[in-house]
Amino acid sequence: MGSYDVIVVGAGPAGVSAAKAAALGDARTLLLEKCPTIMANKPCGEATSQATFKTAGVEPKPSIVLNKAYARVYAPNMKFVEIRDVGFLINKSLFIQEIAAQAAEAGADIHVREEAVSVWRNGDAMRIKTNRDEYSAKVIIGADGYNSTVARSLGINERSEPIPTVQYVMVNCRLEYTDVVRFFLGNEIAPGGYAWIFPKSEKIAEVGIGVRAAPAKLYLDKFVKIFEKELGSAKIIDYRGAPVPIGGMIKECVLDGVMLVGDVAGTVIPLTGAGIHSSVAAGLMAGEVAANACHEDDVSKERLSEFYEKYGPWINRINKSLKVMRALEKMTDEDLNLLQSILDASDILDLANGLDVKRVALKLLSHPIFAMKLAKALL
Ligand SMILES: Cc1cc2nc3c(=O)[nH]c(=O)nc-3n(C[C@H](O)[C@H](O)[C@H](O)COP(=O)(O)OP(=O)(O)OC[C@H]3O[C@@H](n4cnc5c(N)ncnc54)[C@H](O)[C@@H]3O)c2cc1C
Repeated sequence: MGSYDVIVVGAGPAGVSAAKAAALGDARTLLLEKCPTIMANKPCGEATSQATFKTAGVEPKPSIVLNKAYARVYAPNMKFVEIRDVGFLINKSLFIQEIAAQAAEAGADIHVREEAVSVWRNGDAMRIKTNRDEYSAKVIIGADGYNSTVARSLGINERSEPIPTVQYVMVNCRLEYTDVVRFFLGNEIAPGGYAWIFPKSEKIAEVGIGVRAAPAKLYLDKFVKIFEKELGSAKIIDYRGAPVPIGGMIKECVLDGVMLVGDVAGTVIPLTGAGIHSSVAAGLMAGEVAANACHEDDVSKERLSEFYEKYGPWINRINKSLKVMRALEKMTDEDLNLLQSILDASDILDLANGLDVKRVALKLLSHPIFAMKLAKALL
Protein backbone atom coordinates (compact mmCIF):
# COMPACT_ATOMS: atom_id res chain seq x y z
CA MET A 1 0.00 0.00 0.00
CA GLY A 2 1.50 3.32 -1.13
CA SER A 3 1.40 6.40 1.04
CA TYR A 4 1.25 10.03 -0.15
CA ASP A 5 0.68 13.47 1.30
CA VAL A 6 -1.87 14.38 -1.38
CA ILE A 7 -3.80 12.12 -3.75
CA VAL A 8 -5.74 13.86 -6.51
CA VAL A 9 -8.55 11.89 -8.14
CA GLY A 10 -9.35 12.85 -11.74
CA ALA A 11 -7.07 14.47 -14.32
CA GLY A 12 -9.36 17.07 -15.86
CA PRO A 13 -8.46 20.78 -15.69
CA ALA A 14 -9.08 20.86 -11.91
CA GLY A 15 -7.15 17.69 -11.11
CA VAL A 16 -3.98 18.32 -13.13
CA SER A 17 -3.84 21.82 -11.65
CA ALA A 18 -4.28 20.52 -8.10
CA ALA A 19 -1.53 17.92 -8.64
CA LYS A 20 0.79 20.56 -10.07
CA ALA A 21 0.29 22.95 -7.14
CA ALA A 22 0.56 20.19 -4.51
CA ALA A 23 3.79 18.88 -6.06
CA LEU A 24 5.20 22.39 -6.39
CA GLY A 25 4.46 22.79 -2.70
CA ASP A 26 6.73 19.78 -2.03
CA ALA A 27 3.92 17.44 -1.10
CA ARG A 28 4.35 13.78 -2.12
CA THR A 29 1.61 13.75 -4.72
CA LEU A 30 -0.24 11.10 -6.74
CA LEU A 31 -2.65 11.92 -9.58
CA LEU A 32 -5.11 9.17 -10.53
CA GLU A 33 -7.02 9.07 -13.83
CA LYS A 34 -9.45 6.28 -14.65
CA CYS A 35 -9.17 6.67 -18.43
CA PRO A 36 -6.26 5.25 -20.42
CA THR A 37 -5.15 8.76 -21.44
CA ILE A 38 -4.98 12.12 -19.77
CA MET A 39 -7.10 14.12 -22.15
CA ALA A 40 -10.42 15.97 -22.43
CA ASN A 41 -12.46 12.90 -21.59
CA LYS A 42 -15.86 14.51 -21.74
CA PRO A 43 -17.50 16.79 -24.30
CA CYS A 44 -16.52 20.45 -24.09
CA GLY A 45 -16.77 23.47 -26.38
CA GLU A 46 -13.09 24.06 -25.57
CA ALA A 47 -13.50 27.83 -25.65
CA THR A 48 -11.71 29.81 -23.00
CA SER A 49 -10.17 33.18 -22.27
CA GLN A 50 -6.56 34.19 -22.71
CA ALA A 51 -6.50 34.70 -18.94
CA THR A 52 -6.98 30.95 -18.44
CA PHE A 53 -3.51 30.36 -19.87
CA LYS A 54 -2.01 32.93 -17.49
CA THR A 55 -3.71 31.30 -14.49
CA ALA A 56 -2.62 27.83 -15.60
CA GLY A 57 0.94 28.91 -16.42
CA VAL A 58 0.62 27.43 -19.91
CA GLU A 59 2.13 29.08 -22.97
CA PRO A 60 -0.59 29.70 -25.60
CA LYS A 61 1.31 27.81 -28.33
CA PRO A 62 -0.32 27.30 -31.76
CA SER A 63 -0.53 23.55 -31.10
CA ILE A 64 -2.87 24.25 -28.16
CA VAL A 65 -4.64 27.39 -29.39
CA LEU A 66 -6.39 26.19 -32.55
CA ASN A 67 -8.27 29.38 -33.31
CA LYS A 68 -8.84 32.86 -31.92
CA ALA A 69 -12.27 34.40 -31.92
CA TYR A 70 -14.41 37.14 -30.51
CA ALA A 71 -18.00 36.56 -29.44
CA ARG A 72 -21.53 37.37 -30.47
CA VAL A 73 -24.57 36.85 -28.28
CA TYR A 74 -27.76 36.54 -30.36
CA ALA A 75 -31.21 37.47 -29.06
CA PRO A 76 -34.18 35.38 -30.23
CA ASN A 77 -34.78 37.87 -33.11
CA MET A 78 -31.20 37.10 -34.29
CA LYS A 79 -29.95 40.61 -33.52
CA PHE A 80 -26.72 40.38 -31.60
CA VAL A 81 -24.33 42.10 -29.23
CA GLU A 82 -20.72 41.79 -30.30
CA ILE A 83 -18.00 41.31 -27.71
CA ARG A 84 -14.66 42.18 -29.26
CA ASP A 85 -12.47 40.57 -26.57
CA VAL A 86 -10.56 37.81 -28.30
CA GLY A 87 -10.78 34.34 -26.72
CA PHE A 88 -9.23 31.00 -27.61
CA LEU A 89 -10.61 27.79 -29.11
CA ILE A 90 -8.23 25.24 -27.75
CA ASN A 91 -7.12 21.65 -27.95
CA LYS A 92 -8.20 20.94 -24.39
CA SER A 93 -6.43 17.59 -24.29
CA LEU A 94 -3.06 19.19 -25.02
CA PHE A 95 -3.82 21.99 -22.57
CA ILE A 96 -4.47 19.47 -19.78
CA GLN A 97 -1.44 17.39 -20.77
CA GLU A 98 0.77 20.48 -20.57
CA ILE A 99 -0.34 21.05 -16.95
CA ALA A 100 0.11 17.33 -16.22
CA ALA A 101 3.66 17.62 -17.56
CA GLN A 102 4.31 20.49 -15.17
CA ALA A 103 2.91 18.39 -12.31
CA ALA A 104 5.23 15.52 -13.24
CA GLU A 105 8.19 17.88 -13.49
CA ALA A 106 7.42 19.10 -9.99
CA GLY A 107 7.56 15.49 -8.78
CA ALA A 108 3.96 14.21 -8.92
CA ASP A 109 3.35 10.53 -9.68
CA ILE A 110 0.69 9.99 -12.34
CA HIS A 111 -1.27 6.77 -12.82
CA VAL A 112 -3.64 6.42 -15.76
CA ARG A 113 -6.14 3.56 -16.05
CA GLU A 114 -6.49 3.69 -12.30
CA GLU A 115 -9.98 4.37 -11.03
CA ALA A 116 -10.79 5.43 -7.49
CA VAL A 117 -13.44 3.03 -6.27
CA SER A 118 -13.92 4.14 -2.68
CA VAL A 119 -12.55 6.63 -0.21
CA TRP A 120 -12.82 6.53 3.54
CA ARG A 121 -11.26 7.86 6.71
CA ASN A 122 -9.07 5.59 8.79
CA GLY A 123 -8.14 7.34 12.03
CA ASP A 124 -6.14 10.44 11.11
CA ALA A 125 -5.43 9.36 7.53
CA MET A 126 -7.53 9.06 4.41
CA ARG A 127 -7.64 5.76 2.55
CA ILE A 128 -8.42 5.19 -1.08
CA LYS A 129 -9.11 1.94 -2.90
CA THR A 130 -8.67 1.80 -6.65
CA ASN A 131 -9.20 -0.90 -9.24
CA ARG A 132 -5.49 -1.73 -8.83
CA ASP A 133 -4.30 -0.85 -5.34
CA GLU A 134 -4.94 0.80 -2.02
CA TYR A 135 -3.26 3.97 -0.72
CA SER A 136 -3.22 6.22 2.30
CA ALA A 137 -2.98 10.01 2.09
CA LYS A 138 -3.12 13.01 4.37
CA VAL A 139 -5.39 14.85 1.91
CA ILE A 140 -7.53 13.57 -0.92
CA ILE A 141 -8.57 16.09 -3.55
CA GLY A 142 -11.66 14.99 -5.45
CA ALA A 143 -11.46 16.45 -8.96
CA ASP A 144 -13.37 13.59 -10.55
CA GLY A 145 -16.12 15.56 -12.24
CA TYR A 146 -19.85 15.90 -11.75
CA ASN A 147 -20.50 12.23 -10.88
CA SER A 148 -17.64 12.19 -8.38
CA THR A 149 -16.84 8.88 -6.70
CA VAL A 150 -14.89 10.71 -3.98
CA ALA A 151 -17.91 12.82 -2.99
CA ARG A 152 -20.41 9.96 -3.11
CA SER A 153 -18.06 7.64 -1.24
CA LEU A 154 -17.77 10.14 1.61
CA GLY A 155 -21.53 10.69 1.75
CA ILE A 156 -21.44 14.16 0.19
CA ASN A 157 -24.65 14.00 -1.76
CA GLU A 158 -25.25 17.66 -2.54
CA ARG A 159 -24.89 18.39 -6.25
CA SER A 160 -24.95 21.66 -8.08
CA GLU A 161 -28.05 21.85 -10.33
CA PRO A 162 -27.13 20.40 -13.72
CA ILE A 163 -28.17 21.52 -17.18
CA PRO A 164 -28.12 18.65 -19.69
CA THR A 165 -26.01 19.47 -22.74
CA VAL A 166 -25.46 17.78 -26.08
CA GLN A 167 -22.72 18.67 -28.51
CA TYR A 168 -21.74 17.64 -32.03
CA VAL A 169 -18.32 18.13 -33.52
CA MET A 170 -19.14 18.80 -37.18
CA VAL A 171 -16.76 18.67 -40.12
CA ASN A 172 -17.13 19.98 -43.65
CA CYS A 173 -18.98 23.01 -42.35
CA ARG A 174 -19.32 26.12 -44.50
CA LEU A 175 -19.04 28.56 -41.61
CA GLU A 176 -20.04 32.13 -42.30
CA TYR A 177 -17.79 33.32 -39.46
CA THR A 178 -14.60 31.46 -38.64
CA ASP A 179 -13.45 34.01 -36.08
CA VAL A 180 -16.62 34.36 -34.03
CA VAL A 181 -18.01 32.16 -31.29
CA ARG A 182 -21.77 32.49 -31.47
CA PHE A 183 -24.21 32.05 -28.57
CA PHE A 184 -27.96 31.88 -29.28
CA LEU A 185 -30.56 32.62 -26.61
CA GLY A 186 -34.30 32.19 -26.59
CA ASN A 187 -37.04 29.88 -25.44
CA GLU A 188 -37.70 28.69 -29.01
CA ILE A 189 -34.07 27.80 -29.65
CA ALA A 190 -32.87 26.65 -26.23
CA PRO A 191 -35.39 26.80 -23.38
CA GLY A 192 -33.62 27.66 -20.14
CA GLY A 193 -30.17 27.62 -21.76
CA TYR A 194 -28.43 28.50 -24.98
CA ALA A 195 -27.06 27.00 -28.18
CA TRP A 196 -23.61 27.60 -29.59
CA ILE A 197 -21.44 27.39 -32.69
CA PHE A 198 -17.72 27.47 -31.95
CA PRO A 199 -15.39 27.42 -35.00
CA LYS A 200 -12.33 25.21 -34.39
CA SER A 201 -11.12 25.87 -37.93
CA GLU A 202 -12.63 26.93 -41.24
CA LYS A 203 -14.48 23.63 -41.64
CA ILE A 204 -14.72 22.20 -38.14
CA ALA A 205 -17.11 23.47 -35.48
CA GLU A 206 -18.41 22.46 -32.09
CA VAL A 207 -22.18 22.87 -32.24
CA GLY A 208 -24.05 22.31 -29.01
CA ILE A 209 -26.93 23.13 -26.78
CA GLY A 210 -27.90 23.20 -23.13
CA VAL A 211 -31.61 23.17 -22.31
CA ARG A 212 -33.74 22.66 -19.25
CA ALA A 213 -36.93 20.58 -19.04
CA ALA A 214 -36.70 19.79 -22.76
CA PRO A 215 -35.06 17.08 -24.90
CA ALA A 216 -31.62 18.46 -25.70
CA LYS A 217 -30.92 16.41 -28.85
CA LEU A 218 -34.26 17.32 -30.39
CA TYR A 219 -33.52 21.01 -29.88
CA LEU A 220 -29.96 20.61 -31.16
CA ASP A 221 -31.19 19.00 -34.37
CA LYS A 222 -33.74 21.80 -34.82
CA PHE A 223 -30.95 24.33 -34.23
CA VAL A 224 -28.67 22.70 -36.79
CA LYS A 225 -31.49 22.91 -39.38
CA ILE A 226 -31.72 26.70 -38.88
CA PHE A 227 -28.14 26.88 -40.16
CA GLU A 228 -28.74 24.75 -43.24
CA LYS A 229 -26.44 26.95 -45.35
CA GLU A 230 -23.52 26.57 -42.96
CA LEU A 231 -24.14 23.08 -41.56
CA GLY A 232 -26.26 21.36 -44.22
CA SER A 233 -23.27 19.65 -45.83
CA ALA A 234 -21.52 18.96 -42.54
CA LYS A 235 -21.07 15.53 -40.98
CA ILE A 236 -21.09 14.73 -37.29
CA ILE A 237 -17.86 13.09 -36.13
CA ASP A 238 -18.48 13.28 -32.40
CA TYR A 239 -21.81 13.25 -30.56
CA ARG A 240 -21.77 13.34 -26.79
CA GLY A 241 -23.64 14.82 -23.89
CA ALA A 242 -22.90 15.62 -20.26
CA PRO A 243 -24.41 17.60 -17.42
CA VAL A 244 -22.96 21.04 -16.71
CA PRO A 245 -23.33 22.10 -13.07
CA ILE A 246 -24.77 25.60 -13.31
CA GLY A 247 -26.39 25.83 -9.88
CA GLY A 248 -23.37 27.36 -8.15
CA MET A 249 -21.05 25.84 -5.60
CA ILE A 250 -22.09 23.15 -3.15
CA LYS A 251 -21.93 24.12 0.52
CA GLU A 252 -19.26 21.68 1.70
CA CYS A 253 -16.24 21.36 -0.57
CA VAL A 254 -13.87 20.88 2.36
CA LEU A 255 -13.90 18.21 5.08
CA ASP A 256 -11.17 16.88 7.36
CA GLY A 257 -8.53 15.58 4.92
CA VAL A 258 -10.74 16.13 1.86
CA MET A 259 -11.21 18.87 -0.73
CA LEU A 260 -13.49 18.90 -3.77
CA VAL A 261 -12.71 21.08 -6.79
CA GLY A 262 -14.05 21.65 -10.30
CA ASP A 263 -17.39 20.35 -11.54
CA VAL A 264 -17.99 18.20 -8.45
CA ALA A 265 -17.85 21.37 -6.35
CA GLY A 266 -19.98 23.35 -8.82
CA THR A 267 -17.30 25.86 -9.80
CA VAL A 268 -18.74 26.48 -13.28
CA ILE A 269 -19.75 30.10 -14.01
CA PRO A 270 -23.54 29.54 -14.10
CA LEU A 271 -24.66 31.87 -16.88
CA THR A 272 -21.95 30.96 -19.37
CA GLY A 273 -21.44 27.30 -18.40
CA ALA A 274 -17.70 27.93 -18.60
CA GLY A 275 -15.72 25.75 -16.23
CA ILE A 276 -12.18 25.45 -17.57
CA HIS A 277 -10.73 28.62 -16.04
CA SER A 278 -12.55 28.36 -12.73
CA SER A 279 -11.55 24.67 -12.34
CA VAL A 280 -7.90 25.40 -13.05
CA ALA A 281 -7.96 28.20 -10.47
CA ALA A 282 -9.72 25.99 -7.91
CA GLY A 283 -7.29 23.12 -8.49
CA LEU A 284 -4.23 25.33 -8.10
CA MET A 285 -5.51 26.89 -4.89
CA ALA A 286 -6.63 23.58 -3.37
CA GLY A 287 -3.29 21.93 -4.21
CA GLU A 288 -1.37 24.76 -2.60
CA VAL A 289 -3.50 24.77 0.55
CA ALA A 290 -3.29 20.97 0.82
CA ALA A 291 0.52 20.95 0.51
CA ASN A 292 0.95 23.66 3.17
CA ALA A 293 -1.50 21.90 5.48
CA CYS A 294 0.46 18.64 5.11
CA HIS A 295 3.71 20.38 6.07
CA GLU A 296 2.02 21.87 9.12
CA ASP A 297 0.65 18.44 9.97
CA ASP A 298 -2.84 19.90 10.25
CA VAL A 299 -5.25 18.73 7.57
CA SER A 300 -8.37 19.51 9.57
CA LYS A 301 -11.40 20.99 7.87
CA GLU A 302 -10.59 24.27 9.58
CA ARG A 303 -7.05 24.38 8.16
CA LEU A 304 -8.11 23.31 4.66
CA SER A 305 -10.90 25.91 4.68
CA GLU A 306 -8.22 28.43 3.73
CA PHE A 307 -9.28 27.30 0.26
CA TYR A 308 -12.51 29.32 0.58
CA GLU A 309 -10.50 32.46 1.36
CA LYS A 310 -8.15 32.02 -1.58
CA TYR A 311 -10.97 31.12 -3.94
CA GLY A 312 -13.15 33.94 -2.55
CA PRO A 313 -13.10 36.19 -5.65
CA TRP A 314 -14.20 33.23 -7.80
CA ILE A 315 -16.93 32.28 -5.31
CA ASN A 316 -18.16 35.84 -5.54
CA ARG A 317 -18.27 35.69 -9.34
CA ILE A 318 -20.05 32.34 -9.33
CA ASN A 319 -22.67 33.63 -6.87
CA LYS A 320 -23.25 36.81 -8.87
CA SER A 321 -23.50 34.98 -12.18
CA LEU A 322 -26.01 32.60 -10.58
CA LYS A 323 -28.12 35.53 -9.44
CA VAL A 324 -28.13 36.94 -12.98
CA MET A 325 -29.04 33.54 -14.42
CA ARG A 326 -31.96 33.17 -12.02
CA ALA A 327 -33.24 36.64 -13.01
CA LEU A 328 -32.83 36.00 -16.76
CA GLU A 329 -34.64 32.65 -16.49
CA LYS A 330 -37.86 34.59 -16.05
CA MET A 331 -37.42 36.65 -19.23
CA THR A 332 -39.59 36.05 -22.27
CA ASP A 333 -38.16 36.09 -25.79
CA GLU A 334 -39.58 39.62 -26.20
CA ASP A 335 -37.72 40.69 -23.05
CA LEU A 336 -34.48 39.19 -24.40
CA ASN A 337 -34.95 41.01 -27.72
CA LEU A 338 -35.43 44.26 -25.88
CA LEU A 339 -32.44 43.63 -23.65
CA GLN A 340 -30.27 43.11 -26.71
CA SER A 341 -31.06 46.66 -27.77
CA ILE A 342 -30.21 48.08 -24.33
CA LEU A 343 -27.13 46.16 -23.22
CA ASP A 344 -23.68 46.67 -24.68
CA ALA A 345 -20.69 44.33 -24.76
CA SER A 346 -19.30 45.32 -21.38
CA ASP A 347 -22.76 44.92 -19.77
CA ILE A 348 -23.02 41.38 -21.14
CA LEU A 349 -19.50 40.49 -19.99
CA ASP A 350 -20.18 41.82 -16.49
CA LEU A 351 -23.50 40.00 -16.21
CA ALA A 352 -22.36 36.69 -17.67
CA ASN A 353 -19.15 36.49 -15.69
CA GLY A 354 -20.57 37.78 -12.41
CA LEU A 355 -18.33 40.87 -12.47
CA ASP A 356 -19.80 44.37 -12.02
CA VAL A 357 -23.44 43.25 -11.93
CA LYS A 358 -24.44 46.24 -9.80
CA ARG A 359 -23.35 48.70 -12.51
CA VAL A 360 -25.58 46.98 -15.09
CA ALA A 361 -28.46 46.76 -12.60
CA LEU A 362 -28.24 50.51 -12.00
CA LYS A 363 -28.30 51.10 -15.76
CA LEU A 364 -31.43 48.93 -16.06
CA LEU A 365 -33.05 50.70 -13.12
CA SER A 366 -33.81 53.68 -15.33
CA HIS A 367 -35.61 51.49 -17.87
CA PRO A 368 -39.44 51.45 -17.60
CA ILE A 369 -39.75 47.68 -18.10
CA PHE A 370 -36.52 46.25 -16.70
CA ALA A 371 -36.42 48.43 -13.57
CA MET A 372 -39.00 46.13 -11.99
CA LYS A 373 -38.45 42.98 -14.01
CA LEU A 374 -34.70 42.69 -13.75
CA ALA A 375 -32.78 45.48 -12.01
CA LYS A 376 -34.30 44.90 -8.57
CA ALA A 377 -33.50 41.19 -8.71
CA LEU A 378 -29.88 41.96 -9.61
CA LEU A 379 -29.31 44.51 -6.85
C1 LIG B 1 -20.95 20.08 -23.72
C2 LIG B 1 -20.08 20.91 -22.82
C3 LIG B 1 -19.44 22.04 -23.33
C4 LIG B 1 -18.62 22.80 -22.50
N1 LIG B 1 -17.97 23.86 -23.05
C5 LIG B 1 -17.12 24.58 -22.28
C6 LIG B 1 -16.36 25.63 -22.88
O1 LIG B 1 -16.41 25.87 -24.09
N2 LIG B 1 -15.54 26.36 -22.07
C7 LIG B 1 -15.43 26.10 -20.72
O2 LIG B 1 -14.69 26.81 -20.02
N3 LIG B 1 -16.13 25.08 -20.15
C8 LIG B 1 -16.94 24.31 -20.90
N4 LIG B 1 -17.61 23.26 -20.33
C9 LIG B 1 -17.38 22.97 -18.89
C10 LIG B 1 -16.03 22.27 -18.65
O3 LIG B 1 -15.87 21.23 -19.59
C11 LIG B 1 -15.92 21.70 -17.24
O4 LIG B 1 -16.41 22.63 -16.31
C12 LIG B 1 -14.49 21.32 -16.86
O5 LIG B 1 -13.96 20.36 -17.73
C13 LIG B 1 -14.50 20.75 -15.45
O6 LIG B 1 -13.24 20.25 -15.13
P1 LIG B 1 -13.05 19.15 -13.98
O7 LIG B 1 -11.59 18.91 -13.92
O8 LIG B 1 -13.76 19.57 -12.76
O9 LIG B 1 -13.84 17.86 -14.45
P2 LIG B 1 -13.75 16.96 -15.74
O10 LIG B 1 -13.29 17.73 -16.91
O11 LIG B 1 -15.07 16.26 -15.80
O12 LIG B 1 -12.60 15.90 -15.40
C14 LIG B 1 -12.80 14.86 -14.44
C15 LIG B 1 -11.75 13.79 -14.68
O13 LIG B 1 -11.86 12.81 -13.64
C16 LIG B 1 -11.77 11.51 -14.20
N5 LIG B 1 -12.44 10.59 -13.26
C17 LIG B 1 -13.76 10.51 -13.01
N6 LIG B 1 -14.02 9.59 -12.06
C18 LIG B 1 -12.81 9.08 -11.70
C19 LIG B 1 -12.42 8.08 -10.76
N7 LIG B 1 -13.32 7.44 -10.00
N8 LIG B 1 -11.10 7.77 -10.65
C20 LIG B 1 -10.17 8.41 -11.42
N9 LIG B 1 -10.50 9.35 -12.34
C21 LIG B 1 -11.80 9.70 -12.46
C22 LIG B 1 -12.45 11.65 -15.55
O14 LIG B 1 -12.08 10.62 -16.43
C23 LIG B 1 -11.94 13.03 -16.00
O15 LIG B 1 -10.72 12.93 -16.66
C24 LIG B 1 -18.43 22.45 -21.12
C25 LIG B 1 -19.08 21.32 -20.60
C26 LIG B 1 -19.87 20.55 -21.44
C27 LIG B 1 -20.51 19.31 -20.89
